[in-house]
Amino acid sequence: MNPVSGKKTIEMNPTNGVCPIGETTGQANINDAKIPVLSCEGACIRGEIARLAANMIARERQFGRGCHGELITVPDSAIARWIRSAEKVVLIDGCFLRCHGRIIENIIGGERLVQFDALSHYNRYTDIFDYEDVPEAERKETARSVADWVLASLKNGQQGVKAGGSPCSTCCGQAGG
Ligand code: SF4
Repeated sequence: MNPVSGKKTIEMNPTNGVCPIGETTGQANINDAKIPVLSCEGACIRGEIARLAANMIARERQFGRGCHGELITVPDSAIARWIRSAEKVVLIDGCFLRCHGRIIENIIGGERLVQFDALSHYNRYTDIFDYEDVPEAERKETARSVADWVLASLKNGQQGVKAGGSPCSTCCGQAGG
């Protein structure tokens, strides 16, 4: 619920703009039936780890990097059409708050969305905000570990959190039902 407008939906100004490389990439990904990978793009180290892991997974042949900005605000774009029509969408959230999962499952539905909470895998950095406070090599190593965990989970048909799940408490941060 928007505390100002009282509405549950997000309102945005329309645009006539297009992202040329986004159109090319989105259409190519539709043609190749690639699986979109979305992530938390949060400002903190947790968002950064999720973002890096999503980029790593998107380098694998069957995946492509999705853009939640276009999905939400440019619904006719090729990137948005690709994400909405994909058989499966992978989402890596930065933490148990699942900022992106809670939005995107209401756009594309929870059934096709395979969600992961990156923090639940590596369980570090909870007292750090700025990502530059963690050395670059360590950020990459942690993100690689998250990417490998997600890829292995996908192979085994598992997901990190349930669609519609919410943190059971802020103390353990694990997804509840
Ligand atoms: S999912 Fe967590 S890390 Fe990402 S923006 Fe939300 S609160 Fe921040």
